[in-house]
Amino acid sequence: MSLAAAYQLPPQQMIDMIHNGLPAAKQPHRILIVGAGMSGLVAASLLRSAGHEVEIIEANSRAGGRVFTIRTPFSNGLFYNAGAYRIPDVHYLTMAYVKKYNLPLDKLRQSDPLDLLYVNGQKIRRIEYERNPALLRYQVAPHEEGLTASTLYQLALQPIVDYFHQDPTQHWPHIVSSYDSLSLDNYLRQCPSAFGVPLSAGAIEMINVLLDNEGMKEYSLLEFLMSALTYNQPGVTFYELVGGMDLLPDAFLPQLSDVIHYNNKVTKVIQHADQVTLSARQTRTNQVSTFSADYCIITLPFSVLRQVELLPFTSFSLPKRQAIRELRYMSGTKVAIEFKHRFWIEQDLNDRLTVSDLPLRMTYYPDHVPVSTGSGIILASYTLGNDTTSWDGLNNEERVRSALQHLAVLHGEQVYTHFVKGTSFSWNHNPYSCGAFSYLIPNQAGELYPHLCTQEGKVFFAGEHTTFTHGWVQGAIESGIRAAYEVNLK
Ligand SMILES: Cc1cc2nc3c(=O)[nH]c(=O)nc-3n(C[C@H](O)[C@H](O)[C@H](O)COP(=O)(O)OP(=O)(O)OC[C@H]3O[C@@H](n4cnc5c(N)ncnc54)[C@H](O)[C@@H]3O)c2cc1C
Repeated sequence: MSLAAAYQLPPQQMIDMIHNGLPAAKQPHRILIVGAGMSGLVAASLLRSAGHEVEIIEANSRAGGRVFTIRTPFSNGLFYNAGAYRIPDVHYLTMAYVKKYNLPLDKLRQSDPLDLLYVNGQKIRRIEYERNPALLRYQVAPHEEGLTASTLYQLALQPIVDYFHQDPTQHWPHIVSSYDSLSLDNYLRQCPSAFGVPLSAGAIEMINVLLDNEGMKEYSLLEFLMSALTYNQPGVTFYELVGGMDLLPDAFLPQLSDVIHYNNKVTKVIQHADQVTLSARQTRTNQVSTFSADYCIITLPFSVLRQVELLPFTSFSLPKRQAIRELRYMSGTKVAIEFKHRFWIEQDLNDRLTVSDLPLRMTYYPDHVPVSTGSGIILASYTLGNDTTSWDGLNNEERVRSALQHLAVLHGEQVYTHFVKGTSFSWNHNPYSCGAFSYLIPNQAGELYPHLCTQEGKVFFAGEHTTFTHGWVQGAIESGIRAAYEVNLK
């Protein structure tokens, strides 16, 4: 069942295209693709295989966009994924490319009884919390006592989830129109849960902190429902790519590297009667080049596209221009630190996580490289939305120092003794995305969503933001397939 059926090709058709390609071009075209992120790479590889002449214009010096694995300045092959890092098995398009390129997968734990919770001044393991949620001292209503944040969240969404499952195809559009005006926070405060009344303020706070929703609770309820109805369900297994998530975009390069123009930042898109012209500034020399083709696919996040001139004015519709101006983006910031001794193994935290109400929020202790290599890396902090604010204003050195200070609260002064080096990445400060990923706020599903992916003359649009699978590689791939399919029909 697709939650965005109106704008999506059938899942099996997309999987077939990944493995067998598009039908051969009836009339080969010259096609420019703006952006070498996952959506651009997918569209380019399908169109090139179908016989079209493709060029990719990329502002950065690398491909992959928001799939970005950072290896410097770490030693011993250590790395962290600054952007995408996990793949749920229900993301059938991402999994299809993983299979096609034979990329190695490892299971990724999402939650474990031995995860550490540090909340309201209490430090306990998840299993202790599950046995007695009162340990974290939230003031919940009497009928909510003894229930965990996950259970309460499920009970809050249950009425909508039940309605959805009665008839997914018919009911999803009703859900979108009925709940589009609500944020997660509005919904939890106002709408009856499975108890028949809304949750208490204490229960809502507990959910927001423990499920890491606190920084993004003002975003559309529909985004959270999408998660609850797809990957956030029992039985879904998560994977990571062994060796770094950038193996996925890199797998496209043997077919495409000769047609990617790196370090070319597109600043203007001009539609003519018979072709499209792009102006691009060489980021190293400031020299301006122009590229022309029959069609163009723009994969830039709208947060970036806002800075690009789209000419002539009338060749792009007003609803599309409004969508480009208004589509909301989520911020995301990560801080990673290398330690010469993996003290977290002694604390039973290897391959587990800590959830806290410290500014760190989520801390991950991955086991990417064997313990025998000595030093190890932890993702000291992963924040989204409002939680990034207190990190984004700091420079890299201050972020690392601040992360160490908060880690010392969790793990003691040893963090200073074992510290080697650290680094951070703020997606809001990244000029090539100006945000982590699109995330609707109330009313944007009805007002903007129908205009995100529509073609404007000779210009087509792809990118995770043009689907309903925001913030996932799956959405980027889906959009790349759709855009390639549309252009191939011309
Ligand atoms: C913090 C974070 C965590 C995430 N976690 C996951 C996860 O665990 N699993 C998952 O599946 N997904 C995850 N995602 C989402 C996933 O990374 C994105 O949805 C996907 O990579 C987006 O691909 P795209 O092609 O739409 O956009 P992008 O990857 O942003 O591609 C756009 C490209 O355009 C280029 N560009 C920008 N401006 C210009 C210009 N003016 N001219 C030319 N080129 C330009 C950029 O450099 C970039 O290469 C995460 C993202 C972030 C940021």
